[in-house]
Amino acid sequence: MGEFVVDLDTDMLIGTGFEAGTETEEPIYAPRTGELLLDLPEASSAQVDAAVAAAARAFPAWSRTVPAERSALMLTIADRIEAAAEDFATLEASNCGKPINAVREDEIPAVVDCWRYFAGAVRCISGAAAGEYMEGFTSMIRRDPIGVIGSIAPWNYPLMMMAWKLAPAIGAGNTVVFKPSEQTPLSALKLAKIFADVLPEGVVNVVLGRGETVGNALINHPGVSMVSITGDVATGKKVLSAAAKSVKRTHLELGGKAPVIVHDDADLAAAVEAIKLFGYYNAGQDCTAACRIYVADKVHDAFVADLTAAVQSIRYAREDDTENDIGALISRRQQARVASFVERAAELPHVEITTGGDHDGAGYFYRPTLVAGALQSDEIVRREVFGPVVSVTRFGTDDDPVAWANDSDYGLASSVWTKDVSRAMAAAATLQYGCTWVNTHFMLVNEMPHGGLKQSGYGKDLSGYALEDYTAIRHVMIAH
Ligand code: NAD
Repeated sequence: MGEFVVDLDTDMLIGTGFEAGTETEEPIYAPRTGELLLDLPEASSAQVDAAVAAAARAFPAWSRTVPAERSALMLTIADRIEAAAEDFATLEASNCGKPINAVREDEIPAVVDCWRYFAGAVRCISGAAAGEYMEGFTSMIRRDPIGVIGSIAPWNYPLMMMAWKLAPAIGAGNTVVFKPSEQTPLSALKLAKIFADVLPEGVVNVVLGRGETVGNALINHPGVSMVSITGDVATGKKVLSAAAKSVKRTHLELGGKAPVIVHDDADLAAAVEAIKLFGYYNAGQDCTAACRIYVADKVHDAFVADLTAAVQSIRYAREDDTENDIGALISRRQQARVASFVERAAELPHVEITTGGDHDGAGYFYRPTLVAGALQSDEIVRREVFGPVVSVTRFGTDDDPVAWANDSDYGLASSVWTKDVSRAMAAAATLQYGCTWVNTHFMLVNEMPHGGLKQSGYGKDLSGYALEDYTAIRHVMIAH
């Protein structure tokens, strides 16, 4: 095992039993160095069956616990994560190539708060109506858990995605079989130990493996009532076609290509600083990354010059990781994919790469890159890169930047920068995105919903709306 990974038992959690997968070994790398950390065998289909069976056995009792009981256990999970914050941060930084400080200061507190938020929120679930809608009968609305949830996470924020998915699911009274990304399973394995200590047997099960094997078994499993996935659009489509066979519920958080509209009256310095931070955070491997900028003609040149300088100041790939603002990409493959997007953009006569466009060092780093002069029809404006690459497109007084922003397959997050409140409100009312920020970007809070429109998927993470998504509305009618 790699030297900077904390001691970790790597068995999967099935019921209360910990066992190793019995199938193909998957290599787990440290993106900062390219070093092999360990090989982890994936689950067999019999092990997936056993995990679903354990979740199904746990469901009747767990779904009948009162919210206060579930809430108390979720608060314990939050406390245990907080107590082990340093180990979790080390694991996540090693396995994902993130700067340790970003995990320590941004992610772990958000993860702990997510568990605590849902521990409170589950105590507030209520039906919307109780009354007489037909003479002699009383109707009421119940919100009840759905059953066994197959929950599948991506590699960009492993522990956070686990909190977003599991806290509302088990908080609402469901039981879960969780599959982390095959590239980033380490923090999930550590959290599985906490689940086994705190939760009744089978409420959460953790299985390891690739999408096309273990993921595929889970989304097609007859014992799974709902599939919740965060991942690529192509993966979401596979989930939908699997779900069509048995009419499973689905919750899809897919990709994004967030537009950022910068008007000529915007606070340019603030916009530049925000894009430096939130276009490149997590090396741009974020579905809300501020990656597609539309800038008003009048301020365009100054904006590009200032943003270029700001992007050049982003610290990455430094020997002392505590100095880094951003980390590495997740894999050699992702590094090559990001590079190929930039190479194709650079070949266009109207495009100028004002900074970046290359990579160096042993790990999977990519230099923060700004692609200026991009046009609406360019691939770099239309497709999700998922790397530290931001494009800038100029708009004139006759152009409609909101229409350009909406001219996209994606619909997750957007922002508009202006001092004119009516202009901001008009844009916010017209943008077809799950979230629109005004004069900021990237800010998420556990109390507010996060999720997309169009091919970014549907279903909400965070907030009371996530709890609604993991429950079914039922009507109960009583004759007097
Ligand atoms: P991915 O779709 O390749 O993998 C996501 C998960 O799905 C992994 O656990 C993978 O093993 C599994 N999977 C893959 N194929 C599968 C199949 N056929 N059946 C079942 N499971 C399968 O995505 P990724 O590369 O891990 O993550 C990056 C993508 O996730 C980006 O497109 C990004 O925008 C998106 N994302 C979206 C959000 C959001 O909130 N909308 C958040 C984070 C990431």
